[in-house]
Amino acid sequence: MMKIKIKELLTNLIAIFYPATCIACGRVLLQSEKHICLRCMAHLPETNYHLDKENPLRLLFLGRVPVENAASFLFFRKGEQVQHILHELKYNGNQGIGDFLGECYGRKLATAPAFETVDMILPIPLHKKKLKLRGYNQSECIAKGLSRSMGIPYRTDILLRTEYTDTQTKKSRFSRWENVKEVFAVENEDDIKGKHVLVCDDVLTTGATTEAAIEKLLQAADVKVSVVTLACAN
Ligand SMILES: [Zn+2]
Repeated sequence: MMKIKIKELLTNLIAIFYPATCIACGRVLLQSEKHICLRCMAHLPETNYHLDKENPLRLLFLGRVPVENAASFLFFRKGEQVQHILHELKYNGNQGIGDFLGECYGRKLATAPAFETVDMILPIPLHKKKLKLRGYNQSECIAKGLSRSMGIPYRTDILLRTEYTDTQTKKSRFSRWENVKEVFAVENEDDIKGKHVLVCDDVLTTGATTEAAIEKLLQAADVKVSVVTLACAN
């Protein structure tokens, strides 16, 4: 009991001296705001892809791998707010923002007919070494938020990472694909048999990593796969 009170007191003291600021614009947040101020929330560049089954993201995947649905919450442009948000999530230890935006997006997905039949959420895993380095998997943060607002469980013991790949930024699309081809494994296949699983990730650029994960899931079991990400390039 005492411990809880001290923690609460410390949290309040910290809030007085270091008030929480909006990740996107830096303004001090009101008590009712979380991570992002209401003004920035209202101006987030939403794709609304979840409402359009023939959206460019799904078409991009369909050319390569059979997905049920694909959607992304936000458009990602270099130097803009969504990039700051993703940077916070990925490199600044801000796990809460992934959870928060996952929850926001989940609320939208929960009312979208295309995602009505989803049974389970599977975050794209990080390799153990990278997980140890970062301390958390940013896709899992998003999965937690999605899971809460969609009322669907997420699992981290089905889609696994097997090999470590180095930074892929300087490679061509083809070699990048080669690079990620064998990095995923599927365990507990019986648990996804006949199910509709939702793979989630933070950002989608070429889609090669996500594509490899989906391929692996489809090989392992009779399963339907959909994809969502927090952001995608446009
Ligand atoms: Zn703001």
